Amino acid sequence: MAWFRREHTPLSRNDLESRVPEGLWVKCGSCKEILYRKDVVKNLSVCPKCGFHFRISAPERLEMLFDGPYEELDASLVSADPLKFVDTKPYAKRLQDGRAKTNIPDAVICAVGSLGGMKAVVAAMEYAFIGGSMGVVVGEKVTRAAERALADRLPLVVVSCSGGARMMEGTLSLMQMAKISAALSRLHDARLPFLSVLTDPTTGGVTASYAMLGDLNVAEPGALIGFAGPRVIEQTIRQKLPEGFQRSEFLLEHGMLDMVVDRRELKKSLVRSLKFLLD
Ligand SMILES: [Zn+2]
Repeated sequence: MAWFRREHTPLSRNDLESRVPEGLWVKCGSCKEILYRKDVVKNLSVCPKCGFHFRISAPERLEMLFDGPYEELDASLVSADPLKFVDTKPYAKRLQDGRAKTNIPDAVICAVGSLGGMKAVVAAMEYAFIGGSMGVVVGEKVTRAAERALADRLPLVVVSCSGGARMMEGTLSLMQMAKISAALSRLHDARLPFLSVLTDPTTGGVTASYAMLGDLNVAEPGALIGFAGPRVIEQTIRQKLPEGFQRSEFLLEHGMLDMVVDRRELKKSLVRSLKFLLD
């Protein structure tokens, strides 16, 4: 077949459902056990049989971490479409769909509230909003969250769940990496703790900037964490990658992470770490 006329084969759908689906019963993507949905949700969306961590939304994450009600920050920031970008569909339409699907304005929610009795700023990313990609709004909100933490002398926790920079905003999205890193460095100079929580998946520009800059980098079990995907790496180096490559446990073993913590222990663990760092 001529190279130029090669037909596109659609990518195969991943049958491993990572978010708890709707309905009365759910099937665990890992152990294939049929579970009562309420039991899974009550268990913080962790499979009670095998410990598989389903993906959770940003509001669920904030509810799980904060002791009670919290104050949302910069909720009015919304993405513009500076490049008038169109791929398989216009970027403006993607933004609209993302908002309709998730009911949140962009791929991150930043909030201030009480975490184990301590006031803290927490940012949680939303994967269902264009793959949790980091555009100008995500970059600006995380930067402002760090600046709020600095101004009020509060610790900062960022929970990442992202496919990386938002390519529909081109270079503008890449510039967020430098902006957030600079804000975090000011936080560091002020000796305020920043804890980075990496959840499935954390890749691309997010891993290459703030997700790996925590005073502690904590991951959930089995999370995919990396810069480029395994297939791209395999094709580049022409070698088979080792088992479990780019998963939390592998990265912990190779010194890229400080802790891998089960979601059911996460809050307790973060509170303990913050208390230690703030003392
Ligand atoms: Zn399971």
